[in-house]
Amino acid sequence: MTDIKSMTEDELKIDMVRQGEKSFRAAQLYEWMHKKLARGFEEMTNLPASLREKLRETYEYTALGAVRVQESAVDGTRKYLFELADGNLVESVWMRYKHGNSVCISSQAGCRMGCAFCASALDGLARNLTPSEMLDQIYSITLLTGERVSNVVVMGTGEPLDNYDNLLRFIRLLTEENGLHISQRSVTVSTCGLVPEMKRLAGEKLQITLALSLHAATDAKRRKLMPIANKYSVRELMEACRYYFETTGRRVTFEYSLVGGVNDTMEDAGELIRLLKPMNGHVNLIPVNPIKERSFVRSEREVIIKYKNKLEKNGINVTIRREMGRDIDGACGQLRRRQKEQSLQ
Ligand code: SAH
Repeated sequence: MTDIKSMTEDELKIDMVRQGEKSFRAAQLYEWMHKKLARGFEEMTNLPASLREKLRETYEYTALGAVRVQESAVDGTRKYLFELADGNLVESVWMRYKHGNSVCISSQAGCRMGCAFCASALDGLARNLTPSEMLDQIYSITLLTGERVSNVVVMGTGEPLDNYDNLLRFIRLLTEENGLHISQRSVTVSTCGLVPEMKRLAGEKLQITLALSLHAATDAKRRKLMPIANKYSVRELMEACRYYFETTGRRVTFEYSLVGGVNDTMEDAGELIRLLKPMNGHVNLIPVNPIKERSFVRSEREVIIKYKNKLEKNGINVTIRREMGRDIDGACGQLRRRQKEQSLQ
């Protein structure tokens, strides 16, 4: 069955006409799904019952069930564990900032990139999420919190550019005028650095922010943390970032997870400065969240500050990621993993 919530309004229109329905039904349906955030056809009360019945027989209508919700006592951040129709689990995080609410979504169930410090990589990839399953994370959270979401970051489980077509469709539906209409500038996609897809994304001419998970300035060091570094060199990555900027006018953000004793020395900072100075980009330092399956440790507080200061002194724009929800497994695939472990016991 076709997944109706992943269809554009134009595609819906074609389908309605083909089925002998009035074409304005497409706009009504679209609004119910993407603006009023209906959880099923039965809620669409201005559609004739016979049409609702026909739709139910023709299309799949996705909706997520919240299996678990954890709220941080420190900053109100909420972490949701959702179950997909086939039983796979995904997690999403809701954060409240001064400038609005932000949701971090997952793009895949699991991940096949294998980064050494990341909990999402431990069991590999289960499957790609559909556009509707990415939207549903935001829609469910909007319904559960009763508050508008203004920023979306695709930084949860999965490598978004490894699920390219679904990601693109998701972004288009999310920013569509007749849906939630989130501004493209308020959408960030984070990648471990798939060079061909980064270039392809540049060609889409979207106004979204691309964030590159760099984590090391040299190939040798990056290869210790991220298997993808064996495929694409830091040089190729920088070239792709430059191309992204030239094509879209949007600067790439660089993420750098600080791992104690691994990539947090002053020498590492020096190499990062040399690399990024010509790029004029923004660096987001993320103190690593240690996972119990690996021996990585978080850098000392003073080391983090020293690292940041050195970048700043050398003219690099840098922030330390505000740590939200650490008391609720806020980090990167850890809630999903814990739930899976518990259900096996
Ligand atoms: N696959 C994408 C997006 C998901 S991860 C990417 O690699 O960018 C989002 C960010 O969190 C990435 O920068 C990732 O490297 C980082 N990350 C993953 N696990 C982490 C951990 N345990 N501590 C700190 N950062 C982590």
